[in-house]
Amino acid sequence: MEHLELTILGASSAIPLTNRYPSSQFLTLASRHFLIDCGEGTQVRLRANNIGFSRIDRIFISHLHGDHFFGLAPLLSTLHLLDRQKELHIYSPKGLKEAIQQQMKLQGSWLKYPVIFHNLQTDSFQNIYEDERVTVHSFPLKHSIDCFGFWFREKEKPRKMLKSAIEKYNIPPAEIRQIKNGKDWTDEDGNIIPNQELTTDPSSPLSYAYCTDTAPIDELQDYLHAPDLLYHEATFMEEHRKRAVQTNHSTARDAAQMALNVNAKQLMIGHFSVRYHDLDPLLEEARSVFPNTLLAGEGTTYALHPSRKKLKLIER
Ligand SMILES: [Zn+2]
Ligand SMILES: [Zn+2]
Repeated sequence: MEHLELTILGASSAIPLTNRYPSSQFLTLASRHFLIDCGEGTQVRLRANNIGFSRIDRIFISHLHGDHFFGLAPLLSTLHLLDRQKELHIYSPKGLKEAIQQQMKLQGSWLKYPVIFHNLQTDSFQNIYEDERVTVHSFPLKHSIDCFGFWFREKEKPRKMLKSAIEKYNIPPAEIRQIKNGKDWTDEDGNIIPNQELTTDPSSPLSYAYCTDTAPIDELQDYLHAPDLLYHEATFMEEHRKRAVQTNHSTARDAAQMALNVNAKQLMIGHFSVRYHDLDPLLEEARSVFPNTLLAGEGTTYALHPSRKKLKLIER
């Protein structure tokens, strides 16, 4: 898949409401599938969005407030019942393993598939996952307990081979990989064909940053540089700033300011307080500072293509 796809399974804070669920997102980037936070109801939301449970290999939990992980133990149990065999990796602040173990102990069982818990460090920008196509970093946020943001990034892609060049210079398949990595080609007569005549630029790598729950922090600009999409919590509006400060959360205006600070290309706001029935005023508040903002829509899937760099809704 040549694009980034993000499904909002829940974008509400603290308490579930009818049609508004606690935090959870399903991200696909470079054909990798990641579950980000796992609030109550995540399994049901995955089902409602036709996302197979077996696609999830890595789960990222921002912090251990219930609205971000109370859906995890049920999901792990279901994977056990579905006879999962492959490893599952979970990245979270310290303490999650013990909480899950306790729940499993009360149930009198443990999971038959391997679950590997990775504890996040509290004070640094940390590379927590990497393979040949993506990297994931975590970084500390400012909340009432240890809390982390995540930055998911595609790596630079190989150059694109021109079909016409393969035919023209009679290039064997075994050489194509090296040419895609930038090598020139020497033809049968010894002429060197420069790489620019054989390939075109690859599409630029995409990135997605997830920041919830947090007060606005100056350090964000040290961690994030021009993410294609920044998800930032906007639990409150400016009229409830006092409450935002007391609880280490952000207002919609704060979220927009963070998007400006890190030079984000687009901003999505979420983690809305249940006190707001109409979310449009939050959107307006954010847009007054950062126009390219949208609301995280419950049950909505967004796609970002490298060529267009503009989020688009996917109809299901
Ligand atoms: Zn929360
Ligand atoms: Zn929280």
